[in-house]
Amino acid sequence: MTKGSINVSVENIFPLIKKFLYSDHEIFLRELISNATDATLKLKHLTTIGESKVDYGAPKIEVKIDKEGKKLHIIDQGIGMTAEEVEKYINEVAFSGAEEFLNKYEDSAKDAGIIGHFGLGFYSAFMVADKVEIITKSHTDAPAVHWTCDGSPEFTLEEADKKDRGTEIILHISEGEEEFLEDGRIRELLTKYNKFMPIPIKFGTKEINDPDFTPKTTKDKDGKETTEPHKKITVDDIINNPNPAWTKQPADLEDKDYKSFYRELYPMQFEEPLFHIHLNVDYPFNLTGILYFPKMTNDLNIQKDKIQLYQNQVFVTDNVEGIVPEFLTMLRGVIDSPDIPLNVSRSYLQADGAVKKISSYITRKVADKLKSLFNNNREDFEKKWDDIKIVIEYGMLSEEKFFEKADAFALYPTVDGKYYTFEELTNAIKAKQTDKDDKMVILYASNKDEQHSYIQAAKDKGYEVLLLDSPIVSHLMQKLETSKENISFARVDADHIDNLIKKEDTAISKLSDEEKTKLDELLKEVVPSEKFMVQLEAMDSNASPFMITQPEFMRRMKE
Ligand code: ADP
Ligand code: MG
Repeated sequence: MTKGSINVSVENIFPLIKKFLYSDHEIFLRELISNATDATLKLKHLTTIGESKVDYGAPKIEVKIDKEGKKLHIIDQGIGMTAEEVEKYINEVAFSGAEEFLNKYEDSAKDAGIIGHFGLGFYSAFMVADKVEIITKSHTDAPAVHWTCDGSPEFTLEEADKKDRGTEIILHISEGEEEFLEDGRIRELLTKYNKFMPIPIKFGTKEINDPDFTPKTTKDKDGKETTEPHKKITVDDIINNPNPAWTKQPADLEDKDYKSFYRELYPMQFEEPLFHIHLNVDYPFNLTGILYFPKMTNDLNIQKDKIQLYQNQVFVTDNVEGIVPEFLTMLRGVIDSPDIPLNVSRSYLQADGAVKKISSYITRKVADKLKSLFNNNREDFEKKWDDIKIVIEYGMLSEEKFFEKADAFALYPTVDGKYYTFEELTNAIKAKQTDKDDKMVILYASNKDEQHSYIQAAKDKGYEVLLLDSPIVSHLMQKLETSKENISFARVDADHIDNLIKKEDTAISKLSDEEKTKLDELLKEVVPSEKFMVQLEAMDSNASPFMITQPEFMRRMKE
């Protein structure tokens, strides 16, 4: 027998990292800007606790394209690195300086918002560059250094003459990756991944009206007014909002702030959201965010503006499946949690304890919000019901916890535009709409026009008729029938209503015997008896001399 150890050498692991670590080449920019952000946040932390003597100032991150030189520069004014630190953090693949920092400063740094932790992000640069340079000067007195690597495990490290603190990363973009030298492409990536990152990111400059300049209006001798042109100034084009609404306290935000943040998230959405839910929890997991209820259409497929998942203000994905309960994926907004494990498979995610807790926390918060909206302003809630019922009904069907909580706010509208809670509904019908076994019979219609005469007949008897027309309501009825005691649903035009509901009095015929026979014969001719049932004067209303019904079993067969 021979024993041995598998030999993992840098030579063979390096191309693997380069090629397969991330499937998407574009994320290199997210990783490098995350590192620049971390470097700046670390400096902020060290100056705050007095471990660094430099002036923190108002640092920013700059992204610059050098099209001719085929280079992309990412420049920060953060903590920088000494020669030893480059050896340790850069040359040791999979050693995370971010993690080390968090361990070293423990409690004091846990809210610093440091992003990195796998120690692999930097190497994603080699997915798009065949050579990478780092020119960096530490915030300490150590001399600046220049590191160069062409993607092989060999590198060079020498002193440099960089004067200002911070790091510049230079990517020599490889052949085939030239898209990353295009202005439009880089701007697109910055907007996608970095729009809400905490340190200002400059990408080029832009012209704006000088705020300190007021154009003068002069009158000529004919009294004609002319206003001079506004003075323009050139300013940095900052692509991000470093303080997005979800990172603030709900008490510091007004309704209009939530609305304008919605617009910021979805610039192409012109419809206002119905209401929002601000999520904010730090134990047993960390999660912030804002969810919005948009107006729902019946078409569940049309949805491109999805909930976005962030980690420490870095965009991760808009596929929140498994993290947000399925029925809430129809909502919009952001959630930000550093505690969601990434770079792992979806099925693992669903089994993860923290993720399960997050999902049920979100469900609970949404239910609480709906309850308080209902309690605080029922009239307004009723108005919104049609726009939100799909989400609520779907949630009642798919999440047992939500089903229980929904008793407090789920509404059952009648054909007359009244809105009952389930409890109110049963109170309203229990006197009249019970069957022989004292089970309550809830009548419903799905189409007011088509079922008009049946609705009228039922109303004439003093019955309440619900109008239930959403696509999933038949499933919800089944769920209610099995979960609630002593109730059953019956369609207002079902054949057995009159057998079901206990009757006090019988109607007096308004047709003569001769008329009845004639009508009976005529109906037998025109209505196929294998499909429908005909009852003469089945209803004691004045409206209809006869009624055609389809047996309940036939109808269910069709569905
Ligand atoms: P991670 O960010 O997960 O720690 P990376 O591979 O992205 O791993 O980066 C490795 C380490 O290199 C960082 O933790 C940090 O110590 C150092 N580093 C990378 N970029 C910079 C930068 N712009 N300024 C200072 N240090 C940096
Ligand atoms: Mg990193």
